[in-house]
Amino acid sequence: TSGEPALRPDAGTDPSGTAATTRAAAGLSIVMPVYNEAEGLAALHQRLVAVATGLRRRWGLACEVVYVDDGSRDASLAVATALPADGIDVQVVALSRNFGKEAALLAGLEHARLGAVLFMDSDGQHPPAMVERLAGHWIEDGYDVVFTAKAHRKTESLPRRLSGHAFYSLINWGSRHKIPEDAGDFRLLSPRAAAALRRLPERNRFFKGLASWIGFRQLRIDYEPAAREHGASSWNIGALIGLSIEGLTAFSVAPLRIASLLGLALAATALLFGLKILVEALVFGTDVPGYPSLVVGLMVIGGVQLLMIGVMGEYIAKILSETKGRPVYFVAEHQVKRADTTPAPA
Ligand code: UDP
Ligand code: MG
Repeated sequence: TSGEPALRPDAGTDPSGTAATTRAAAGLSIVMPVYNEAEGLAALHQRLVAVATGLRRRWGLACEVVYVDDGSRDASLAVATALPADGIDVQVVALSRNFGKEAALLAGLEHARLGAVLFMDSDGQHPPAMVERLAGHWIEDGYDVVFTAKAHRKTESLPRRLSGHAFYSLINWGSRHKIPEDAGDFRLLSPRAAAALRRLPERNRFFKGLASWIGFRQLRIDYEPAAREHGASSWNIGALIGLSIEGLTAFSVAPLRIASLLGLALAATALLFGLKILVEALVFGTDVPGYPSLVVGLMVIGGVQLLMIGVMGEYIAKILSETKGRPVYFVAEHQVKRADTTPAPA
């Protein structure tokens, strides 16, 4: 990407130094997964174009936006392909069916042509106005991963907050590398961080965890997510549980460790209990009441064993799906629209 944008009023008086200029030269790809967002997409695109114009003025930063249509059932794809490329390159990558958000993010990451990559939801919950701030931390301060976290989750129900907390406690338990709680998918990656993410070979992806796992200079920004502008969140409780199991088994062996500890505790209890019975029978000659303890013992052991076989099954399923080595997604259509070269009016 050698083509300098025509409009760059502050060229020559660049206040932010050569490191910033070098970084900005890499450009920025904004990746947006789209699933049934036809209603709000055109308006969001307009806001993005305005943001991109600001970025180009301030740092000479070239931008493109990559819409990944994740098999939407509404007119999202038609809306996306009709979006104007006003001073910003527009790519539309249409997946062959709904593969889920993580797959859509990977498709966007792999199609991004400019150096830095920004992930952003297409439902308006990730405010475009914040993009400049995120970009600033990369361009001027040199951060590699600028991620956002919900400032507080008051809008969420108590069970959801509690389960979220439990999830992160479990996933981070005993691991040297902690995944930050509450981090969202609104995240900017420097060119080298984006390249690192592309090199991770796993098919079951949990971007929140991966983006933190790669390391480099990370910066957390707290913000207040906007309310959804149109439609409804496509996450239901089942999908959330699915993603949690996905994240857990991809990132942590805590469930397996819990299985071992539980087994150990049960075995120790059984040993003590057995000793007690032995002493009672041999020393005191007591008639040991067997039936209730027998049933309880059987049920506890049976239940725990089934549960732990299920946990192991999750990991085996993960191994199976990784060894099959299937592509994460298929692209049905791909459109690239070059930016209109006429600069936007000041
Ligand atoms: N999304 C997607 N594929 C899906 C579900 C969602 O690409 O199967 C996109 C959706 O269009 C949106 C983002 O992922 O841009 C977040 O989805 P949503 O708003 O439903 O999730 P939430 O904000 O509740 O986490
Ligand atoms: Mg949303």
